[in-house]
Amino acid sequence: TGDWSSDVCSSDLMTRLIDINMISAMVEKIGLDIFLQQMTENISRNYRQWMKFEKSARLASHSKVGVIELMPISDDQLYGFKYVNGHPANTAKGLSTVMAFGALAEVETGYPLLLSELTLTTAFRTAATSIMAARVLARKNSRVMAIIGNGAQSEFQATAFHLLLGINEIHIFDIDKTAMDKFQQNLSSYKTLKVIQFSNTAEAVKGVDIITTITADKTLATILTTDMIEPGMYINGLGGDCPGKTEIHANVLKQAKIFVEYEVQTRIEGDIQQLDKKHPVIELWQVLSGQQPGRDNDSQVIIFDSVGFALEDFSALQYLYELSNKLGIGKNIELIPQMDNPKDLYGLLTKTELTTDSSKAA
Ligand code: NAD
Repeated sequence: TGDWSSDVCSSDLMTRLIDINMISAMVEKIGLDIFLQQMTENISRNYRQWMKFEKSARLASHSKVGVIELMPISDDQLYGFKYVNGHPANTAKGLSTVMAFGALAEVETGYPLLLSELTLTTAFRTAATSIMAARVLARKNSRVMAIIGNGAQSEFQATAFHLLLGINEIHIFDIDKTAMDKFQQNLSSYKTLKVIQFSNTAEAVKGVDIITTITADKTLATILTTDMIEPGMYINGLGGDCPGKTEIHANVLKQAKIFVEYEVQTRIEGDIQQLDKKHPVIELWQVLSGQQPGRDNDSQVIIFDSVGFALEDFSALQYLYELSNKLGIGKNIELIPQMDNPKDLYGLLTKTELTTDSSKAA
């Protein structure tokens, strides 16, 4: 990581492709703990350099059943974007709620360097971002976490908090019992992690240090209400991330110190959409770069109202590109035409015609 100009090689116009299997191979090769740790470091480094990025809220296209979004961001060397959807009803049809892919391009020439899967990577980067925030906002001795919502993202959160933050007991609740069983089964190989199922949110969050909410429902839900909140709790709120889609009751928000990724976007999409536009929130980069304090004392209730920001995907793409080159895992594809005369785009058609003709003849 660091100076990207040395890695950018315009003489080779091939684009790197990373698919799902390649991500899995990379994680297997370096180990999940190191992969998550390095991804967290990449995201943190970029958050500390917040001012060098050209930022915007994501562009969302809403329908009755879901949303499709584009998330662009750039610095002076690289431009990145992610395509991502959110369709909570999809799982009932055997389809995923969240799916994504993205690209990284060279600002100097516009050439795409990387085309990557980002569905699995979104789960990794969301867990890494949660760790980055929890490290500065949760109580230092946190050991027990509740996870409400045990769908696709949930085990990534659990694994990251166990491996990187020392959480050794997780209380789970989902309205779908089979999701809880799947969660428990997937994490059964971690002998130092205790997972306990509960029959409702109130019981699951009782006495925990951290609450992660990661449910999916396109509604103003109230997963967390004031009666469930205890002094010092840290709430890692992830599922309230769209207009009309929240998880935390407004009164819980009002009694807490609130941190966000990018205020402009979170005012529209986060749980704070329920609050007055002037209600104070702090952007996380300010804490990470030492400009603002995070937690003031051990009895303060803190909420990270996360919606997922383009910089996290940009950082993930940057990291994957580097790792792919380092490990030699990935594939170079001719996404962009390679031409001796760049003005002769038409010449590519002539080449294709000749090939087609000769294949017909054969
Ligand atoms: P998923 O559909 O696979 O899982 C969601 C789970 O929530 C399901 O098992 C469902 O049964 C459960 N659920 C719904 N309502 C509930 C309730 N009232 N109480 C308890 N459980 C309930 O979805 P996923 O891919 O795991 O994503 C979960 C959420 O996280 C989505 O809302 C998604 O938009 C959001 N998300 C946020 C970020 C971020 O950066 N903040 C990143 C990725 C996903």
